[in-house]
Amino acid sequence: MRFGEMNNLRSIALAFALLPSPLLGQSEAVVRRLVLQGVSVVDASLEASSRPNRTIVIAGGTIEDVFETGAKDVPADAELLDLPGRFVVPGLIDGHQHFSLGSTERRMARLRFLLRAGITTVRDPSGDARVLGYLGLQAERGEILAPEIFYAALIGGPGFSEYGPVAAISDGYTPGLAPWVREVGDTTDLERVMIEARAVGARGIKMYRYLSPELTLKVAEAAHAEGLLVWSHARIRGHNGSDIWATRPSQVVQAGALVLSHAGHFACEVQPCRSGEERGRAVATVPPDHPAIRAVLQDMADRGTILDPTLVNAEVANDEAYWLRFAAEVTSLAIEMGVPIMAGPDIPDNPDDQEFPLLNRELELLVSEAGLSPWEALVAATATAARAIGEERRRGMIQPGMRADLVVLEADPLSDIRALRSPAVVIKNGEIVSQAR
Ligand SMILES: [Zn+2]
Repeated sequence: MRFGEMNNLRSIALAFALLPSPLLGQSEAVVRRLVLQGVSVVDASLEASSRPNRTIVIAGGTIEDVFETGAKDVPADAELLDLPGRFVVPGLIDGHQHFSLGSTERRMARLRFLLRAGITTVRDPSGDARVLGYLGLQAERGEILAPEIFYAALIGGPGFSEYGPVAAISDGYTPGLAPWVREVGDTTDLERVMIEARAVGARGIKMYRYLSPELTLKVAEAAHAEGLLVWSHARIRGHNGSDIWATRPSQVVQAGALVLSHAGHFACEVQPCRSGEERGRAVATVPPDHPAIRAVLQDMADRGTILDPTLVNAEVANDEAYWLRFAAEVTSLAIEMGVPIMAGPDIPDNPDDQEFPLLNRELELLVSEAGLSPWEALVAATATAARAIGEERRRGMIQPGMRADLVVLEADPLSDIRALRSPAVVIKNGEIVSQAR
């Protein structure tokens, strides 16, 4: 056996020894420990206040312990970061981004930019699963500087395959037949569609276009039966030129969707949105606190359905200020009524001319335009976003057993949400991936 081969076998054996495998019993391999000392912990567990002077012990990729500094001894072999007066929040989750299009170089630049800014996880509700799955795997292994990625299979009704963007994420497939972007109809074997979506690593489905209320219900049911999360546009538009009014937000909620994207769509609860023009008219004329909109939001609050308002999208994608105003007012009403809010901009970042990610802009708009407290905004990008991707047991909080995805800040984000703009240290999966200065 050559030295190289032996080395490979050793590293394979070592890799297995590090796994907490039931076959191998308790691992005796040394687990790397990192300790953050003297920090104020801020997460969703304690409303509007931090837990000061804490010590966080990280073992491998997991938070092992959190206690008042000095209350217990710190493991002797740990790497110690003494951070008195600093604040620590969970790694941020960008709840709405699209990564599969564009050049590899640009994609990697965007992912790196987000990670360095403290975004350790992203949700991509539509894209090529082959690209997203491989990026996610490399991110999980620490081979690239990138947040981890949770993605969906995109589902549309009759005519969906002719919608331009479908072909753009279907390379090598007849549009409409790729397992991650499907056209379905009344005779489609939905069980098979969902099994295939799972097989390509999708965490959920995203219901997008041309689904009638009846088909929406069937699709959501089939997804749930296969253990997939159900994400959706808040209203699902009808086919171009058809008389279909579209599936309204209330019907999407009743179908059991977990996340409804785009607060602007709630105008379509009241007025038809068969075309972009009609939707524009609805957003311009429907009062955001219309009784029909209030009723949907109440239903969402009762069920725990999450609103993904995408305020940055409302601000950037439309020239008229009423788009942002409408979306922000619906969001404001939603938080007041107890609807969980998650944060995501749905506009691609451009690292070349941004100082901080658009997720930060989204959080700042949630505070300044929709009236969320900084704490509510932080929860939107941590605990609620974690629930939206089915990761609430592993991400979004600073507790023993959670993944060690952490962001160290110089200032208190509960005083000013802009404290999130420039993290001092970013830790992903127990590794320091970025450190200021
Ligand atoms: Zn989107």
